[in-house]
Amino acid sequence: MPALLKNIPYICKYKPRSSRPKREGDCVDDKDFDRKWPAGFQFRWKLEEPQGPMSERDGTLVVSHAEMEQEFEAVFQKWTKVSGYKFRKDEQNPNLKITVLKNQPTVEPFEPSTYAQAYTDGGIGYIEFNNVNRLDYWTKTMVHNVFLHEMGHIFGLGHVCQERAVMYPELRETLLSLELTPWDITHFNTFVASNHKLINGQRKRQLKHW
Ligand SMILES: [Zn+2]
Repeated sequence: MPALLKNIPYICKYKPRSSRPKREGDCVDDKDFDRKWPAGFQFRWKLEEPQGPMSERDGTLVVSHAEMEQEFEAVFQKWTKVSGYKFRKDEQNPNLKITVLKNQPTVEPFEPSTYAQAYTDGGIGYIEFNNVNRLDYWTKTMVHNVFLHEMGHIFGLGHVCQERAVMYPELRETLLSLELTPWDITHFNTFVASNHKLINGQRKRQLKHW
């Protein structure tokens, strides 16, 4: 049984703005990205743990590299059904780079109190897991649920206010693997049906709150 959360943390970076409620737990309804991936896009993913795998402060392994990859595969299956995007592991030429960071996350803003962040830059998607101060919390299930959420950001989805939606900014479920909800599916379909330009290889970092 994992340690339960003392406070419900934000899954990914949440940057309060004056126009938004600032109290933790309040709804945050963030805008979607203004670009989208082409239909049927092939994501080539790679997991890197340059500072070692998910572990607690004493070095105890909590989620292995292989276990993380298994959870990713399960998440990809869920999103494939909804999105039509394709996913395959590619160690040589990835366009979806997933890392576990323990020391200093590479991108600002990023706070120790967040689980992960996602952004796209130059036609590459990045997801960074935070293994800094959440060391008691990581389990396979939580990797699954956070990754399901972060992939939504990679696609271009922002946060929503429905508490049971995967794209809600707080992690409500730590013991069961989440499923995409009707809200998430409608959200995705509305987003891809929009007139947004396609993501290309030009550098345009989209970080937002992620
Ligand atoms: Zn998020």
